[in-house]
Amino acid sequence: MTGTVHIVGAGPGDPELITVKALRLIKEADVILYDRLVNEQLLAEAKPEGQLVYCGKSPGAHTMSQEQIHRKLVEYAMQGKNVVRLKGGDPFIFGRGGEEALALAERGIPYEVVPGITSALGAASAADIPLTHRGMSASVAFVTGSRCSSPETRIRWDLLAHSVDTLVIYMGITQLEQIRTELLMHGKDADTPTAIVENGSTDQQRTVTGTLGLIHKQAAAMKIKNPALIIIGASVKVRERLNLLVMDAIHQVG
Ligand code: SAH
Repeated sequence: MTGTVHIVGAGPGDPELITVKALRLIKEADVILYDRLVNEQLLAEAKPEGQLVYCGKSPGAHTMSQEQIHRKLVEYAMQGKNVVRLKGGDPFIFGRGGEEALALAERGIPYEVVPGITSALGAASAADIPLTHRGMSASVAFVTGSRCSSPETRIRWDLLAHSVDTLVIYMGITQLEQIRTELLMHGKDADTPTAIVENGSTDQQRTVTGTLGLIHKQAAAMKIKNPALIIIGASVKVRERLNLLVMDAIHQVG
């Protein structure tokens, strides 16, 4: 009997932000193939005899190639194992979950995709930044920042600069200068409120807010590193208002 491969989202970092279904699958799995951004506390939920396989993938230093991962998934499933492929955030948001589902489907291996809270949502909540806000932002786009330099998969910054209210950019920290330049060049206002959230929803979260014109300087001063998200749009300002109100309330109580 061929086993099933569950392609599972582990959530954004806070181990409690996982679905009930994902946690059950982790507990039942014979083998878990997990990525770098998965909170290790979740792996402690695996059954004692459950096998844990690290698939790595830090930028520029891949432990296993995507093809090797596909091969492993197929191999374990063919052995009749109950497989969990555990990924940070959501498997279908910049998680290559689609490629893995295709690789399994091509070989007739049963699979199921279990969504997770993507880091954009986890980080935005933890940083008090609503991604949509009545009167400020009626649309949001999730964009990859890692494709800035390759012409064949070019991101349409010219269109994104004007057609979407809130931009959330994944994998953009090393390309921050280029992303800023693209947006400014295409007429995005340098005063547009901008935030960067590093290690969102974890106890190591750091948040920096400023404007599109100056955010790179602040990020450099704070030595912001991956994993981090760039959030660009008017609703970033709501964070400030919330923080002030909360501070006032604390003062009044004190
Ligand atoms: N599938 C994942 C995204 C993988 S791409 C998801 O749905 O969240 C990797 C990128 O995700 C990182 O470069 C970073 O931009 C973002 N990311 C993941 N976890 C994060 C976190 N806790 N805080 C901020 N950004 C995070």
